[in-house]
Amino acid sequence: PELFDSAYETGTDSEVSSNDDSPPSPPTTLPQLAKAKGHYWITTTGAKILDACGGAGVACIGHGRKEVIKAITKQMASCSYASYAHFKLDPVERLSEWLVESTGGMMKKVYLMCSGSEAIEAALKLSLEFHHSWTGGSTTKRTNFITRTPSYHGTTLGSLSASNHFSRRLPFISSGILLESHFHPISACNPYRDQLFSSVDEPTAAYVSRKLAELESMFLRLGPETVAAVIMEPIVGAALGCVPPPPGYMRGVKKLCERYGALLVFDEVMCGMGRSGTLHAWQSIERPENGEEGGEVVPDLQTLGKCFTGGYTPGSALLVGHKIAGVMEQEKRVFTHGHTYQNNPLVAAAALAVQVGVIEREGLLAKVREHEKVLGWLLRQRLSKHPNVGDIRGRGLFWGVEFVKDRETKEPFDVGLGVAQMVHRTAMKEFGVLVYNGQGCAGEGRGDHVMVMPAYDILEEELEMIVDRLGKAVESVFEKLGG
Ligand code: PLP
Repeated sequence: PELFDSAYETGTDSEVSSNDDSPPSPPTTLPQLAKAKGHYWITTTGAKILDACGGAGVACIGHGRKEVIKAITKQMASCSYASYAHFKLDPVERLSEWLVESTGGMMKKVYLMCSGSEAIEAALKLSLEFHHSWTGGSTTKRTNFITRTPSYHGTTLGSLSASNHFSRRLPFISSGILLESHFHPISACNPYRDQLFSSVDEPTAAYVSRKLAELESMFLRLGPETVAAVIMEPIVGAALGCVPPPPGYMRGVKKLCERYGALLVFDEVMCGMGRSGTLHAWQSIERPENGEEGGEVVPDLQTLGKCFTGGYTPGSALLVGHKIAGVMEQEKRVFTHGHTYQNNPLVAAAALAVQVGVIEREGLLAKVREHEKVLGWLLRQRLSKHPNVGDIRGRGLFWGVEFVKDRETKEPFDVGLGVAQMVHRTAMKEFGVLVYNGQGCAGEGRGDHVMVMPAYDILEEELEMIVDRLGKAVESVFEKLGG
């Protein structure tokens, strides 16, 4: 059935005929939302759309949870705002203590903010302040950051400079405003794409060594003493489509950071707060069942966002590890930073209610781990034999499906065609399921993907519906395109 009125159709097919290298334009008309309830979006025309991605991977406990609304309202009634510079606030203190405890004490300090971009921006600034003001004085040359491509870390100038996201950077490249000279990309760790056109699969250990050698040569090229930090997502979200690292990679990255005195920043804005099956993605990226030695890879700085407050309020955080916190304590330093809404009581109340009041109380992390097997199995059953599905990968409730022109060669579709956008729109419009269109970085020829990121309390029958509807959308789109 058609789920939207005709207004949604107006002008939305323009990207289909576009064959140039520019990113597809967004649809001109979007469905009007009436409300969001549980695992559904409901439009003003009465269409009920199953939520398989929580917007941009945000709504991790579904919509309209009464206990969360009650907690936020209660906080609003007692104090909706106070400056972090004037008062200590109870919910902020409780949340910070809980967060530190949730890392097993590996992280020591917490700064609450409103968006992922702000948290990344703060991580960049804190890295510089640590090296320049607290440990090295003016003699230190650590002004470079090593990033990966493609990647996405945010939309402010610093976080966008750290991002290798073709279409978002495009308007600013010629202006020279992005801090190009201080951000240095190495290639992302993406086993599926890195073996493009190769007939023989490379053994994992050899692949990991190759990737780590690339990182080490970047250190050496820049001069190790010039590198402030290495920034990466432990499991890559929208830039690649839910790609976990192969065993040994992150441990190797950490070793190189330690060897060369650089900080390791993990961006957990999308993959964190339970999305991957553990509260923090770094708690599980090097899984013991992979047969590898060693434990968790703990970052020096960690950003949180999205599922942190589950979308009930804006919200993000920067967590600071021992290395930096220890120096701050010893040298009696404070981070020269400050937003009006930093350490906001409503953000804290929402995060506490979502994390402690719902996820912890209902044991939802265990559910995510159980659902990982179900969702992975369902996606593979339904889609892995489709001639235009190249790869299906993920962790927890964080799954990506990558589309290709040719499964053998892994040749991607032309960027201008907007294949992921077509699947996303067809799934929503014709089959009533919202999946995330992760085509953002396809301008670099990395291929189209959609992401499935349902709420942690999703039911098994809802997972079946999601995969069935997505499967129908994929079949419909490629049938129209002629395979
Ligand atoms: N980092 C990652 C990995 C993200 O996926 C995003 C947003 O999608 C950000 C940072 C920026 O977060 P925000 O959009 O809340 O500023």
